[in-house]
Formats: sequence, structure tokens, C-alpha cells
Amino acid sequence: MRNAPPDSNQPPPFEGRNLYLTDPALQRAVAREGGGWAHERLAAWGEALGSAEAFALAARANRFPPQLNTHDRFGNRIDEVAYDPSWHELMALATREGEHCAPWVDPQPGAQVARAASYLLHAEVENGTQCPLTMTYAAVPVLRRCAASLPPLTETWLPRMLAQDYDGRTLPVADKRAALIGMGMTERQGGSDVRANVTVAERCGDGSYRLAGHKWFFSAPMCDAHLVLAQADGGLSCFLLPRLLPDGTKNAVRIQRLKDKLGNRSNASSEVEFDGATGWLLGEEGSGVAVIIAMVQHTRLDCAIGSAGLIRGAVAQALHHARHRRAFGRKLGDQPLMQNVLADLVLEAEAATALAMRLARAFEADASPADVALARLATPALKYWICKRATATVSEAAEVLGGNGYVEESPLPRMLREAPLNSIWEGSGNVICLDVLRAARREPTAIDALEAEIVGARGADASFDRYTSGLMESLHRDDLDERDARRIAGNIAIALAASLLLRNAPRPIAEAYCKSRLEEGSGGAFGTLPGGIDCRAVVTALG
Ligand SMILES: Cc1cc2nc3c(=O)[nH]c(=O)nc-3n(C[C@H](O)[C@H](O)[C@H](O)COP(=O)(O)OP(=O)(O)OC[C@H]3O[C@@H](n4cnc5c(N)ncnc54)[C@H](O)[C@@H]3O)c2cc1C
Repeated sequence: MRNAPPDSNQPPPFEGRNLYLTDPALQRAVAREGGGWAHERLAAWGEALGSAEAFALAARANRFPPQLNTHDRFGNRIDEVAYDPSWHELMALATREGEHCAPWVDPQPGAQVARAASYLLHAEVENGTQCPLTMTYAAVPVLRRCAASLPPLTETWLPRMLAQDYDGRTLPVADKRAALIGMGMTERQGGSDVRANVTVAERCGDGSYRLAGHKWFFSAPMCDAHLVLAQADGGLSCFLLPRLLPDGTKNAVRIQRLKDKLGNRSNASSEVEFDGATGWLLGEEGSGVAVIIAMVQHTRLDCAIGSAGLIRGAVAQALHHARHRRAFGRKLGDQPLMQNVLADLVLEAEAATALAMRLARAFEADASPADVALARLATPALKYWICKRATATVSEAAEVLGGNGYVEESPLPRMLREAPLNSIWEGSGNVICLDVLRAARREPTAIDALEAEIVGARGADASFDRYTSGLMESLHRDDLDERDARRIAGNIAIALAASLLLRNAPRPIAEAYCKSRLEEGSGGAFGTLPGGIDCRAVVTALG
């Protein structure tokens, strides 16, 4: 007689689930912030992303990263990056979903929130593909603003950027169905301090410019154009730099090499040299920072949403494992100390989701003046905080899987390598916190808007009242110190999260968040929630 197969004590596959319908926090946030009308669409997207096929595409796109081909077999320069087919499939799925354009195509109330939810769900599965999607999404308002002075933007570029389609062919943009846009600011000698850019742009008789210089980081080089900063006679200026010129010839953008990166491996990030590359001025000479800042505000929003997705994705994997795996005679999820860890992780996922969706609402076309002011302060603060929390959260979530979480067949190692990136680009930790300080000093309406948001939860929790009074007091001081910028940015994010959770989350989650995040001495390792918190109730509330 054959023995029954031994119980491997391994969990069933995670995939094959609807990532939206299994996320009550996200569904609540979408409905609350005005995107409830997109429920069916998000449910369909959650189903597609949660499939075994989508997870397999994500794994493949990162296992077989893009390759640079500088020359063809005849020795001609081609500067082509070849991607695994899985990259193109993921790009086709996401562009069909409209991640790069939906709120611009149909700016109905809740459009930014609905798109943010799509983006968050995508971030749970794959992140490299999100780079060109974000840059295209963020470039639309910039190009619309500059459209009057540059007719091809309206005639050729914008309609293709707004197409819910993907066209990866190397053709002049006019011959394509859809176009993607990247951005090039960072140079060898400085990334945060873009005013130190040394690439130069010289005006030609026909109104175009010739650019000479380099970019040290130039992601998604197969985009149809990049928005690039360079020094013109009138100062630092922003240019549209197409990959192919209207006559079909290659622009003089030489890809020197691809970066060998810690994570984000499905996405190509290159070093490029401009050898008299042709560009068209966007805005006025000397207004480069002012022009590109509109783009940066949206890319920062996406960093916050993307990191919220990474957090949610990793925590969902951890909960799944702990619900199935047994040790010492009990399910991991039933062990008291593991419950503390899981509950602590769940709090982070709930907070990040609520924050990201609330921030997205402040970007709606019909956002109130108070929300516009709030976004000025909250975008850098939440970008800083959610991105910082992602690395710690993903790392702890991976440990819940034990050794399985350290093995490449699991998505956790990839998520862990990805996690620090959103904190670096689009304003590294310190730089973004200095921006929070700048907003606090210069824009009193932003502080008023923050206070108005917080007031809604006053009286619900004594520690919240104490914490937020202290925060508002410190924001009103004239002598805000640069050295305090991280503390202030983090406190703004925590106060906003607590306020949202107190008003909207299940009571055990709101109470546990306040008890563990607002008291002196909190914020250490995960799994150190204080006594009196019902960890099981917190974990169950996540669904
Ligand atoms: C994978 C990847 C892809 C990228 N893709 C692109 C791209 O497509 N286009 C693009 O333009 N860039 C891109 N970047 C570059 C990225 O935006 C920069 O790396 C980032 O802005 C930081 O610039 P830096 O590397 O020059 O660091 P630095 O500016 O030298 O900063 C180093 C550190 O010093 C801190 N710092 C700077 N100033 C201060 C200050 N005043 N006070 C205190 N601390 C300070 C920063 O916070 C940072 O931690 C990419 C980066 C990565 C990792």
C-alpha cells in the first residue's frame, strides 16, 4: 500500500485572486474619495493583475532584463533597447487600462482616484513598467500648458499620449498609434541640484535647439521623447527631445550603457550623451524648473501611490503565508507574537492606502482650493513617508515567509529590491523633506488646509489630539530648522493617516494606529505593538 503524500505544509499559490475585491481598505478609500463609479472597472483590473499569468509576466520581465544594442551588424549606431516580450505585454495591459492617461482623457470627478487605484494595484505585481507610465501621465499637463507655442504638441504628441494603446515600434511619432514620454534631469555632477546642469542648448534659425551634453540617469530610453533640462542663453530651460526626428532619422541621443541596478530590473535606465540632439523649447528660456515642476508634482504622487501598492502587495503575501503555514502545532497566524507582527504590518498597509487615495483626490480637476493647498504640503510629505515605510514593511513582510521569502521564485525579494527606489528618485528623502519645510514656510494656506483636514478627527482619540496640537504648533513657528525636516514631514504623514483612519477605518485599526504611532517611543521594529491592542481584530479587518 502506498503512503499518502506527506503534508508539505506549504501554502497554496497566492495568485489567482482578485487584488481589488480582496482589498477592503482600497475599496473603502476609492469610494470615500469619489472613485466609486469605477468599481466594476477596478474589479476587472484586480482580476487581471491577480492572475497567475500576470504574476508570471512580472517575474519574467525582471528575470530577463532589457539589453542595449548600440550598433547594428553593419556598424551603424542604432541605440536600441531590446525587451523581453513580457515587458511589452505588461505595457499593453497597463496602457489599455489607461494608467498613463485616464484622468486627462476623462477628467470627471474621481478620475484621479480611480486611476490611482489602478496604479496601486499594478504596483502590487510589477514596478518597472510603471516608470514610463508615470512619466507619460505626468508629462501631459506640462505639454498641454505649452501647446499654444508648439503646434506639433496638439497635432501629434498629445493625441498619441492620450491613446489607451501601446505601440513599441521605432517610428516617428506621427506614424504611431500611441506615444510614451520620459524625463532627463539628472547629470553626473548633480541630480537633486538640477540648476548645476551643464548640458547646453543652442538656438537654431528654424526655432529648434541643438543640445550637447549628457544625462547620467535617463530611464525608459525607448520612449518616443524625453523632457530634458539644458542651459540655454536665457538660463536653465526645458526641451522636448524626440527619439526619432519627423523625417524618420534617429535623433543624436547616444545610449552609452544601461545601469546595472539593485532592483527595477525590467525597466531600462540608461546613460546618454547628446551629440547635437534636436529639441524644442517648452515654455520660455530660463523657465526650465518652473515648467518641469508640474511634472515632478505628479511623479511624486505616483511614488507615494506606487509605494503604497508595494506595501499592500507584500503584506497581502505575508498574511496569505501566515494563514496557511503551521509551526509548533499552530498556524503561524495564530501565534501571538506573529499576530503582533502581522497586525503591525496591516496598520502600515491601511495607512499607506488611505493616504495615497486621499492625496490623489487633491489632484482632481475639480479639487477645492483647500485641496490644492494641501497637495503642496502633503505631496512631498507623503512621498517621503510612504516610500520610507515601504522598505521596512516589505522587509518584514518577506520575513513572515521565512526562507521562502528570500528565494527568487517568490516575488518578495524583487519587491524588497524595488522598495528603496521611490524614495530616491523624484526627490530623495532629505531633498523632499526640505521641500516640505519650504511649503510650510511660504504657504500658510497649506498649513491651514492641513489643519482643516486634521480637525475632522479631533476628539476621537486623546493621543491624536495631543500629537496634532504639537504638530500644528511646530508648523506655525518662524524658526523651522532644516535639521528637523524629516521629523516634521513624517509627523505630517502620520497625523494625516491617523485622521483618515479615525474617521474611516474599522475601530480596532484606528485605535491600534494611534496607540502605536502617536505615542512617544513608537516607530521601532515591527511586532512591537503595545499591550491592549486586539491584534487578531486588526488583521481580520484587512480582509
Ligand atoms: C533607477 C533610477 C532611475 C532613474 N531615472 C531617472 C530618470 O529617468 N531621469 C532623471 O532625471 N533622473 C533619474 N534618476 C536619478 C534620480 O532622480 C537621482 O538619483 C536623484 O534625484 C538624486 O540625485 P543624485 O543621484 O545626483 O544624488 P545627489 O543629488 O548627489 O544627492 C545625494 C544625497 O544627498 C541628499 N541631499 C542633496 N541635497 C541635500 C541638502 N541640501 N541637504 C541634505 N541632503 C541633501 C539627497 O537627499 C541624497 O540622499 C534615476 C535614479 C535611479 C536610481
